[in-house]
Amino acid sequence: MRIDIISAVPDLISSFLEHSIVQRARSKGIMDIQLHDLHDYSTRKFRQIDDAPYGGGSGMVLGIEPIDRCITALKSERSYDEVIFMSPDGQPLTQSVCHRLTLKQNLIILCGHYKGVDERVRTGLCTMEISIGDYVLSGGELPAAVLTDAITRLQPGVLSDVQSALSDSFQDGLLSPPVYTRPAVYRDWAVPEVLRSGHETQIDAWRHEQALMRTKLRRPDLLADQGDV
Ligand code: SAH
Repeated sequence: MRIDIISAVPDLISSFLEHSIVQRARSKGIMDIQLHDLHDYSTRKFRQIDDAPYGGGSGMVLGIEPIDRCITALKSERSYDEVIFMSPDGQPLTQSVCHRLTLKQNLIILCGHYKGVDERVRTGLCTMEISIGDYVLSGGELPAAVLTDAITRLQPGVLSDVQSALSDSFQDGLLSPPVYTRPAVYRDWAVPEVLRSGHETQIDAWRHEQALMRTKLRRPDLLADQGDV
């Protein structure tokens, strides 16, 4: 799968691509992730990519020209399934959105900056808008990294243990059960006996029960979505 990320500050994303699971996916050739500096597509003095908003008001707005030039250059090389704009007013990012996007071949992710982007970028060039939560960040770089990570870890062959991804929160509509590692007792906090029993069926049952309890307590909305409560 290929993801092209377009940004005014690509350095904010580059180190994220060089570590951990995303790096592993790239070195295995499962993910091809390319960064594009919007400034490289400016034809203006000092590689300017933004301007003051029409009608006045505070903040600068990313202009349509460099963005269109960059997207057009990419599209001339391959076809894209989606051109995604990261935006606080986009559709909320959920695990099921990630699953849908994991099945795609080529994605473009556009990061906004400053006050945002010219509206014509959104209506004319983008096919999807995604928010990572109800708060406002300074740029779309961290949101793009979040989306890229969430998609990457779902690609077959990225996680060494497929079961690990399947047992994560939201995967089956439940939150993940608690996990423990050595030592068995720390201060007077002991690891639940059942996990040390070696009884696989009992362990599975305990984990499912814990996942259910945790979901009921913390995110009853997830159970309601399934019509369980
Ligand atoms: N004026 C805009 C916010 C601009 S923030 C508004 O009120 O909606 C600058 C950029 O950061 C946005 O264009 C977007 O790309 C990114 N961004 C900020 N918060 C985000 C969020 N919660 N999810 C996704 N992208 C976000």
